Amino acid sequence: MGNPPQIPLLGMDRSELAAFMEGEGEPTYRAQQLLEAVYRQRVDAIERISTLPQQFRLKLVEKGVSIGLPAIEKCFVSQDGTVRYLMALCDGQSVETVWMPEGDGGEAGDGSEAGDGADQGPSWDRAKFDRATICVSSQVGCAVDCQFCLTALLGVQRNLTAGEIVGQVCAVLNDRKVSPPEDRTNLVFMGMGEPFLNYDNFMKAVRLLVAEVGVAESRMTVSTAGIVPRIPDFGQEPVRPKLAISLNASNDTTRTQLMPLNKKWNLQKLMAAAREFPLRNRERITFEYVLLRDVNDAPSNAKEVAELIRGMRAKVNLIALNPGPGIEFGTPTEERVAAFQKILANAGIPAFVRRPRGRDIFAACGQLKRTVQIATAPAP
Ligand code: SAH
Repeated sequence: MGNPPQIPLLGMDRSELAAFMEGEGEPTYRAQQLLEAVYRQRVDAIERISTLPQQFRLKLVEKGVSIGLPAIEKCFVSQDGTVRYLMALCDGQSVETVWMPEGDGGEAGDGSEAGDGADQGPSWDRAKFDRATICVSSQVGCAVDCQFCLTALLGVQRNLTAGEIVGQVCAVLNDRKVSPPEDRTNLVFMGMGEPFLNYDNFMKAVRLLVAEVGVAESRMTVSTAGIVPRIPDFGQEPVRPKLAISLNASNDTTRTQLMPLNKKWNLQKLMAAAREFPLRNRERITFEYVLLRDVNDAPSNAKEVAELIRGMRAKVNLIALNPGPGIEFGTPTEERVAAFQKILANAGIPAFVRRPRGRDIFAACGQLKRTVQIATAPAP
């Protein structure tokens, strides 16, 4: 409001920074200095880029150039070590980003949770976790309207820029004082929004995170609700995260009820795209399945899921519904979840039960919704 238009550096890649510096009549090595400062050192203000001459810093500031790092407006810490951040963007909008530390050395990758239950003691209060996962948002709100997800209640406000997507990661790394690749950091694009409805910005962010921030593509996973035409596009990307697909139902009737996008891209189309997806060496597709009590959690549903996935190089992550205000569904019992998992396992499909993270601070899957709105929402 009244401010001069800002030119954020976050989001610019090597060639864009080089062109920018050339336009300023600056030597090309300035582009390298800016890349280092923005993505590796992750400085929060132009004035603090110590590799640049003082005068040049002033010139940039006068032109309205900024780093473009989102500001941490609020942060909530869960008993399990999860931290939920409310990130303020430069236009007054905000998104949420979640930090999930993982304890003691076990096996790598997601889905290794089974067994290391919460009752084995607070591994999360150790001074240093051996790895962590950051859950990143791709849009302000979401347009997909899944009936069990709180973000859906916001509708979609706008896409995030590539700089805002990378910026969430940089802000969290700064706040937690960790730095990849030395500190093992995984990224999951499973926060607010549908990444495949903001495809170009999302992919540009991925390339910056790999090339400049230093997170390996094998440490990233993107989840889509099933924007089918983007699945083959994604498969063609030379650099890409692993793919997860939110299945959430075992037949079209239920899936259309839960996820209205199934009318446009039904299970037949979705599974065809998944089967054709070019997997890399030792890669598997992940199917996520939110279990809703008495809606999609019956043994017969598990058998249908096994049929859908039969013969694929895939695994299933089962998530018991994380409840939220305005969500009409119930969470299944542990026995029901275990029975579902067993049917898949018996059919030869690796299936893992995802432990909810940060439920007490509303940080778990499907609970992300700008905090301010929760606080001010009228009681139902
Ligand atoms: N739009 C993307 C990514 C964000 S949602 C997608 O749909 O995949 C990330 C995961 O959280 C999805 O698998 C989604 O089905 C799941 N999810 C949404 N709401 C949930 C809830 N209330 N409880 C548990 N999981 C939920």
